Amino acid sequence: MKLAERVQKIQPSPTLVIDAKAKALKAQGVDVIGFGAGEPDFDTPQNIKDAAKRAIDSGFTRYTPVGGTDELKDAVIAKLQRDNGLEFTREQISVACGAKHSLYNISQALIQEGDEVIIPAPYWVSYPDQVLLAGGKPVFIETDESTSFKITPEQLEKAVTPRTRALVLNSPCNPTGSSYGREELRELGRVCLGHDFVIISDDIYERLIYDGLEFFNIASAVPELAPRTIVVNGVSKTYAMTGWRIGYAAGPREIIAAMTKMQSQSTSNPSSIAQKAAVEALNGPQDAVAMMTAEFAKRRSYIVDRLAAVPGFSCFRSTGAFYAFPNVSGVYGRSFDGRTISNSTELAAYFLEHARVAVVPGIAFGTDKYIRLSYATSLENIRKGIDRIEEAVANLK
Ligand SMILES: *Cc1c(COP(=O)(O)O)cnc(C)c1O
Repeated sequence: MKLAERVQKIQPSPTLVIDAKAKALKAQGVDVIGFGAGEPDFDTPQNIKDAAKRAIDSGFTRYTPVGGTDELKDAVIAKLQRDNGLEFTREQISVACGAKHSLYNISQALIQEGDEVIIPAPYWVSYPDQVLLAGGKPVFIETDESTSFKITPEQLEKAVTPRTRALVLNSPCNPTGSSYGREELRELGRVCLGHDFVIISDDIYERLIYDGLEFFNIASAVPELAPRTIVVNGVSKTYAMTGWRIGYAAGPREIIAAMTKMQSQSTSNPSSIAQKAAVEALNGPQDAVAMMTAEFAKRRSYIVDRLAAVPGFSCFRSTGAFYAFPNVSGVYGRSFDGRTISNSTELAAYFLEHARVAVVPGIAFGTDKYIRLSYATSLENIRKGIDRIEEAVANLK
């Protein structure tokens, strides 16, 4: 069968592939510890589930406006005002089937053949592929531990060309767990002010930030940039609602209208029931979020300390999201059973086969020196999993 060329340009999401492999092994009865998951291990809070049940029982089960109900848009507007100090009107909000879908709509609405999009690396797996699908060209800025995985103003300035159409910022970051402070965003903002590209701020991990750090996005740190920033957020990570599929974008009216038009010819509205649940998530009590964040913070400290102590590893102390991103290049060149481990893919395969631990190779995020471990799993599992990793590394000669 001859398929469209655009399909050959992209890869299936590598994180979902690892997760599927680990789940398949588990289904065969193998006791695998999964560090692959990109979703909270908590259950959706009860008040949110109840709101969805009420939606079903009251017959709120039909099509809604494509870009979301006014009720949900108002809840999003109130949230952006309350948490980020940003002002939007309903025409500036579009709700989609997850933040991933919002980002997809943005690239389809914004990117022309040959347009460049600046993406700091390591990056979340979908950014480059969504740009490629739109005919654009991802331009990467490499970062490492020396700048806490943050791009510098000098790096940004050097990456800009006349074809630059957008910059993607993701803080706290998946996969590194790094987050930008207000002053750092102001410095990057000064570079942005000298050009006219759009800034896409993926704030999905906004509430999962530790060590008493305060969250800022570039629109709140540099108000002059707010008119050309698209803020993307959703309920998946903050409220343990990955399966409900609600994300949203807030930004310039014309881009939002174009995104909604794209969506009107693809998915139409996101689930009416999930929209009601999202209204409750945003407007209802927030204590479940505080509980989950406190638990993630505890696990973060534990997993980072344990990984940093594995001979051959070093581990950046992440400040947000729920991922540890150790540098494992110190064990490259060692071997097991005559098989040499020379990259992140081989190390991840070795861990899955010989330690029954699933991790995601760093190459999936654009860098081969690291692996990603999600700590969206119990402390007990984390302890067992790192014990196994430690033993497997000790068995490398
Ligand atoms: C999980 C994730 C998303 C997408 O979440 P949805 O479930 O589609 O709302 C977007 N960006 C990053 C960085 C993520 O990790």
